[in-house]
Amino acid sequence: MTRPHVLVVGAGIAGPSLAGWLTSQGWRVTLVERARSLRTGGQAVDFRGPVHRTVLERMGLWEAIHERRTRSGTQSLVDASGRSLVELPALMMSGDVELHRGDLCQLLFERTRVRVEYRFADAPTALRETAEGVDVEFERHAPQRFDLVVGADGLRSTVRSLLFGEGPECLRHHGYRVVGCTLPNTLGLRRRGVIYSEPGRGVSVTSAQDEALARALFVFTGGPLGPHERSPASARDAVSAVFAGAGWKTRQLVEGLREAEDVYFDAIGSVRLARYSRGRVVLLGDAAWGGTLGGQGTPLAMVGAYVLAGELLASPGSHQEAFSRFEARMRPYATPAQEGAKHVGGFFAPRTRPGLFLRNQLYRVLTSKPLERVFVKLVTQAAHAFELPDYGGAFSLPRHSLDGALQNDPPRSHG
Ligand SMILES: Cc1cc2nc3c(=O)[nH]c(=O)nc-3n(C[C@H](O)[C@H](O)[C@H](O)COP(=O)(O)OP(=O)(O)OC[C@H]3O[C@@H](n4cnc5c(N)ncnc54)[C@H](O)[C@@H]3O)c2cc1C
Repeated sequence: MTRPHVLVVGAGIAGPSLAGWLTSQGWRVTLVERARSLRTGGQAVDFRGPVHRTVLERMGLWEAIHERRTRSGTQSLVDASGRSLVELPALMMSGDVELHRGDLCQLLFERTRVRVEYRFADAPTALRETAEGVDVEFERHAPQRFDLVVGADGLRSTVRSLLFGEGPECLRHHGYRVVGCTLPNTLGLRRRGVIYSEPGRGVSVTSAQDEALARALFVFTGGPLGPHERSPASARDAVSAVFAGAGWKTRQLVEGLREAEDVYFDAIGSVRLARYSRGRVVLLGDAAWGGTLGGQGTPLAMVGAYVLAGELLASPGSHQEAFSRFEARMRPYATPAQEGAKHVGGFFAPRTRPGLFLRNQLYRVLTSKPLERVFVKLVTQAAHAFELPDYGGAFSLPRHSLDGALQNDPPRSHG
């Protein structure tokens, strides 16, 4: 492979991050995204600790991310009268720096769009490996051969199913569902959040960057969801039914959800795979190890992109070696971090009244002054537990600003 041509599937976070690294070193990347334009939906995502920071610095993104940070403060666990029971420090819910997923998505696109060939509104339908490469068929584009294929197409990865024939069984369900949306900030929150829980149902509301708005998450017990059960209409019906009669300000939040435009609905689960690659095809980000919520999916995707690019560039003649070193490094990091997805439902909505009482007591103790250090360790240890490889000084992304190009041709966005 003299100047390898890589197909990356998915223009979320992992895909553009990898594409940026590879093209900065002269590789050719075609990035196919199923949506018609960049999907800038989602709530806030955060970065914590030196591993995440170093990767962002090497990507030349640290300052840009800081400029866009949400500056979220504490989150209060409240009772039905709105009285704060526990104040959760900003570090727990929003790390060292937090920004809206859409801002990050946009930033990565801006930094990579000149060198990467983006193709929107297309998706692969078949992959066939030969001795020379992977022959890929698409929904819209003519078939094409690539040296390597990277599936960065999220939790319900098509590349993963084409590669391993994996059905929904590799997405393990954790007994909860989540609905997210943006609402008017009727609670008047300013750079802070509130979490109200009852057995089996809980809602969190956090002020958004635009203080007229707030971001809400409704978390409740429930089974897995089929592909046609995740529509905004189903989300509104499910939340109305589950939260009927719930206390605090829940009714007004449920009413806000009725008018919300960016409704997201999913079951909480995480991906478990025996391996991340086969032949010339590899999975990255949520497609390989993702969890619906609470698993540090975004920083893991960016660390993973850095490691995959580093390993490929370190041994350009042998993708097998690069893929196995990538997996050997990332699996022990990603798997424990994704444990968070297992517990996030139980944190927002403990199933029983004693469970709710215990959660409040536990966090009251953990956030007390004497246990401050223990608490910091608990909420950062998964992010820290990685020895970031150094692939050499030249390995950093160019910092070109493409604002002019963007003003002439703004990418449309939708959730
Ligand atoms: C719209 C949206 C909102 C999100 N909101 C949040 C949030 O609020 N909080 C949070 O922690 N995480 C959120 N996530 C998930 C978060 O982005 C990931 O956990 C993390 O950033 C890892 O990113 P990823 O690139 O692996 O996956 P994703 O960010 O999910 O990106 C995958 C991309 O692949 C595309 N795709 C899927 N299938 C195909 C296909 N067959 N062909 C081509 N393209 C395909 C998708 O359209 C998407 O753009 C959201 C993801 C999306 C897509």
